[in-house]
Amino acid sequence: MTTTATTADQSAALEELLQHLGSQAVLSGDDVLVRNHNDYSGMMPTRPLAVVRPADTHGVATAMRICYSHGIAMVPQGGMTGLCGGARAGTDQIALSLERLVGIEEVDATSATMTVAAGTPLETVQMAAAEAGFFFPLDLGARGSCAIGGNLSTNAGGNRVIRYGMAREMVLGLEAVLPEGTVITSLNKMIKNNAGFDLKHLFIGSEGTLGVITRVVLRMFPKPGSTMTAICAADDFDTVLRLLSSARRELGPLLSAFEVMWPDYWTFATTQAPGVRNPFGADAPAHAAYVLVEALGTDPALDAPRFEAWLERLLEAGVMPNAVVAQSLADERAFWDVRDACGELHTLWPRHMAFDIGLPVAAMDTYVLRCKEELARRVPGCQSVFYGHIGDGNLHIVAFQPGVDEQPKDEVEDTVYGLVRDFGGTVSAEHGIGTLKRRWLGHARSEEQIELMRTLKRALDPKNLLNPGKVI
Ligand SMILES: Cc1cc2nc3c(=O)[nH]c(=O)nc-3n(C[C@H](O)[C@H](O)[C@H](O)COP(=O)(O)OP(=O)(O)OC[C@H]3O[C@@H](n4cnc5c(N)ncnc54)[C@H](O)[C@@H]3O)c2cc1C
Repeated sequence: MTTTATTADQSAALEELLQHLGSQAVLSGDDVLVRNHNDYSGMMPTRPLAVVRPADTHGVATAMRICYSHGIAMVPQGGMTGLCGGARAGTDQIALSLERLVGIEEVDATSATMTVAAGTPLETVQMAAAEAGFFFPLDLGARGSCAIGGNLSTNAGGNRVIRYGMAREMVLGLEAVLPEGTVITSLNKMIKNNAGFDLKHLFIGSEGTLGVITRVVLRMFPKPGSTMTAICAADDFDTVLRLLSSARRELGPLLSAFEVMWPDYWTFATTQAPGVRNPFGADAPAHAAYVLVEALGTDPALDAPRFEAWLERLLEAGVMPNAVVAQSLADERAFWDVRDACGELHTLWPRHMAFDIGLPVAAMDTYVLRCKEELARRVPGCQSVFYGHIGDGNLHIVAFQPGVDEQPKDEVEDTVYGLVRDFGGTVSAEHGIGTLKRRWLGHARSEEQIELMRTLKRALDPKNLLNPGKVI
């Protein structure tokens, strides 16, 4: 059931919000800032009815109780860097921004945990862990703007999932407010706790549809003592798979990134992205795939020779044709620049279409070939590049049709997601569903799974007022 609030309901709710939370916490009309109109999804911006910015959990609960009682829909907003429209609020909805609920509440070195307010930017969390002599491994390009609550609501991935897991794996405890205002506090610090259902997982990855995360207990990890980075060339995808199994076996828990770039992406990155150089040299021969391998260790004296010896063995055995190992921090940065050049694709192809699908690793290369063929057949002149966190089964695709006023979104999505369904993959490996991918959810989840998601939604939010129209 979706409730449509009348103008009188809206005015009464705003008045009550102002009365309980104060004018600093409630912005409406022209006072609503542009940053609250949209995330990074590229959708049409909308100005919400109001933005409520509580500074503590009690304020969040009060705001939600008031909105719920007046039948006003609420949309949680973190750093607004999401790529699927999940934090975009409609003109008759209230944005519930966590931007004032910030700060590191506690660093517990003995438990190796930190307790953090949900609006705290990811970069602040990383720095606080580093200051305490630890490492918080979640990392993504939006680190300076995205908030830890947004990271958990989207179960963010990033570059080091192969070693540390997704955001979900870095959480021990969590506090969330249910749609009608009940606060569920479970700031657990223990790794083992099987006392009933692990309720935090209701709120992690559900994109703000079941509750609003207000505080979290995060795991901190030992600071790595050494970093080894290499770029390897492969003449076919079987070589990539052999390299992956070898890295898992020989580097064991040190393996922290395994990023694969197909030739179209590599050529773009090393010849068109500003300031990016080809680590093999400008005139090096082309290969079928390129792999960035990173390992994080604890012993600089032993780890680097072990890493180099592993690569030498592979080269001597003829498993791969070429590899280059970073000899300095500048080299490491230069290697990652090739992988991070995807951030420059918008200059080459403005208005491009981007995908973050997941596939069983063994099916990946066949998928890429089929997808390129189908795109070329269905979308004349279509250009596309493929790259991704292959160790995690996550493939990024960017596609573009030059010379047209409007990109052929439907044909491209139908091709990409149709093949995802055929190959048993997922339409979102890390960015989530939001509104943009909602129509494709059935390509990755069965009817029974989606119905169970709806049952949970109805149980927690019977009036469908928290982030309605998102995910399911
Ligand atoms: C340059 C760039 C690089 C990126 N790289 C990656 C990457 O490598 N991996 C990856 O996974 N993502 C990546 N993203 C996507 C995005 O940064 C992540 O999804 C991030 O986790 C979103 O955090 P946020 O605080 O900006 O959330 P928002 O965009 O504000 O919100 C995202 C969703 O979470 C909900 N939400 C926000 N806060 C809360 C809360 N406290 N409680 C309940 N619900 C909430 C919102 O309603 C919305 O549905 C990237 C984005 C950009 C712009």
